[in-house]
Amino acid sequence: MLEMLRNIVQEVNAAETLEDALAVIVHRVRQAMGTQVCSVYLRESDTDQYVFQATEGLNPAMVGKAALAKGEGLVGLVAEREEPVNLENAEAHPSFRLFEGIGEEPFSAFLGVPIIHQRDVLGVLVVQQAEQRRFDESEEAFLITMSAQLAAVIAHAKVTGSVQALERPGAATATINGIPGSPGIAIGTAVVVSPVADLYAVPRQNSSDRRGEMRAFRQALLSVRQDIEQVSQNLAGHLTPEDQALFDVYLGILDDSSIGAEVARLIRQGEWAQGALSQVMIEHIRHFERMEHSYLKERAVDVKDLGTRVLAYLQAADTRPREFPDQTILVGEELTASVLGEIPQDKLAGLISVRGSGNSHVAILARAMGIPTVMGAVDLPFTRLQDREVIVDGYHGSVHLNPSADIKRQFKLALAEERALSEDLASLSELKCETLDGHRMPLWVNTGLMVDVARSLDQGAQGVGLYRTEVPFLLRERFPSEEEQRQIYREQLEAFAPRPVTMRTLDIGGDKALPYFPIEEDNPFLGWRGIRVTLDHPEIFLAQVRAMFKANEGLGNLRIMLPMVTNVAELEEAQQLIRRAHGEILQEGHSGDMPPVGVMVEVPAAVYQARGLARRADFLSVGSNDLTQYLLAVDRNNARVADLYHSYHPAVLGALQVVADAAAAEGKPVGICGELAGDPLAAMLLLAMGYNVLSMNATSLGKVKKALRSITLTQSRELLARAMTLDDANAIHAMLSEFAMEQGLGQFLHSRLA
Ligand code: PEP
Ligand code: MG
Repeated sequence: MLEMLRNIVQEVNAAETLEDALAVIVHRVRQAMGTQVCSVYLRESDTDQYVFQATEGLNPAMVGKAALAKGEGLVGLVAEREEPVNLENAEAHPSFRLFEGIGEEPFSAFLGVPIIHQRDVLGVLVVQQAEQRRFDESEEAFLITMSAQLAAVIAHAKVTGSVQALERPGAATATINGIPGSPGIAIGTAVVVSPVADLYAVPRQNSSDRRGEMRAFRQALLSVRQDIEQVSQNLAGHLTPEDQALFDVYLGILDDSSIGAEVARLIRQGEWAQGALSQVMIEHIRHFERMEHSYLKERAVDVKDLGTRVLAYLQAADTRPREFPDQTILVGEELTASVLGEIPQDKLAGLISVRGSGNSHVAILARAMGIPTVMGAVDLPFTRLQDREVIVDGYHGSVHLNPSADIKRQFKLALAEERALSEDLASLSELKCETLDGHRMPLWVNTGLMVDVARSLDQGAQGVGLYRTEVPFLLRERFPSEEEQRQIYREQLEAFAPRPVTMRTLDIGGDKALPYFPIEEDNPFLGWRGIRVTLDHPEIFLAQVRAMFKANEGLGNLRIMLPMVTNVAELEEAQQLIRRAHGEILQEGHSGDMPPVGVMVEVPAAVYQARGLARRADFLSVGSNDLTQYLLAVDRNNARVADLYHSYHPAVLGALQVVADAAAAEGKPVGICGELAGDPLAAMLLLAMGYNVLSMNATSLGKVKKALRSITLTQSRELLARAMTLDDANAIHAMLSEFAMEQGLGQFLHSRLA
């Protein structure tokens, strides 16, 4: 049964169009269940009706012609109830409605199950039979399982279908929804970035140099052939003749008469070699995966391996410099922080990532750099977007493909409004962040790249609350040396001096893997992360801290901060290492005082030990991004649970208050450097809680300043008191929004959390 389910899902997955996918579903489900009819009805978003889309057993001429509203007929009943309807005599049911010409008359038994994707009833899957009988429990369970597995595939096929339709003249705009990553709007041209040797991430692209592409392909094939022949020779004598024959099979796959010929045909049609190879190989891999016989199924692995090898050669030989158009929108399956370094900053207009969420590090960096970003666009067929015109709406997390003139006009208008607004906010940069009753709140920035520095200073930042030292580490191919680090840190410290710069010691692990220091774990966010890594590698930690001390010589504005601390022992051990490094550099003839050393509160354990930590440290700083993730048990990178990631959750707000109180009781300053600090609504609460400093990405500075300059400390305390009586994040958000609107702050609330 499981095998059958898997085969059907795989086959549906391999279909090129929605129509093909539905045809496979009705055919295979009817066959698997031995019923006379199987049909699919899908909801049309414009009309909200469930349209008869595919059938085997009923009249195919009615496809696209019959439609039912929610609650109408048995199909509408399934959609409305969001649960199966299983009837031995469909006609006798009060909801039954006969569609003229559809051909349902001979069938008594009816079983319909909803197709639900992310809480949304996409459609209804129906089987019918002439015999008057209830479908039994196992049949019902099979159809439910089938439908649950197919829902995501159908949702994906719907979007892919609309993107393919873009290739037809006069096609309409297609909108794909993801998650807001970084606010703002960008209109530009898509450039697909793909990791090396990944057949599934190669963009489709035309080439005018067909001969050159063909030559490159032939050369790559030859190199792989030579590699395989070499391995075969090396192993000769160790293998049986049958095993040895496997290499011939391998070479046969690449033969000119089979796969090689298909790739060559696509190249002749104008596709570039990498795209042609990937399309042909994926088709063959799917073909083998669909095979019933397990030996043949296994061959899919061989085909994939061969394809990957040829692709790697093609990519290595491709020395053409990457060209980026003005207004580049980078699109990729999983954009990482390091891709941001590959493109000239003046060309980069927007980012779209199929995976990840608004709290992924690439999104945080994008916010720091002010680049509109959409994350978690899971249904986006990204390899098809190369060179297409795209609009990124980073406020709502949506991507518009093939935008009509009307849509483009609307977005251009929004862009103009956005510019006016930021000019308005820029006028605040010289003013203090002070409430109406004279209470000051220092606003600091989070940085990681040198480009952040100029932006931050322009916006009037009073210090750096979080310098993510892992960013320069991420952009290299090996650990930077102590001297290289010293230079990087010196630039940061100098740029802000005499303002304080809080340097966080290396925070790798979780979703921040260094290419040259891979950490493979089942649960990376609960694994070897942050201080756990650096305490296990004192040589890395000491070199980093020494580089910081040396960079601080003659400036004195350094602060050091430790990430992911979960117990007092970690803090004490780190303090000891820091003191040792300080002693060493003094002995070596450098100068400088011991800087303040603080602790990030990012895990629930640190909240409950905040007093103990505050007593030993010089300051606390809450990392609300991770704290929210760990308190709510919601992976900050997972698009599927992004709706549950809510920093206004009463549990998070309660924890924030506990930390602020603990620091105050120990007489130590407390700040917050997670994304929440840059949310103008949340900033009002943080002020009331007693936070001494808010550190945020530079883009948010103006908005937060505007919000805090519009209220009194007393008002913010009243707001906090009201917020703490509410049990629900959305209710808290609604209450704060309403208040902000009354204060005339409406247009400044385009916040990621709003
Ligand atoms: C945080 O977790 O809130 C934080 C500031 O650190 P990062 O986002 O780099 O994990
Ligand atoms: Mg963190």
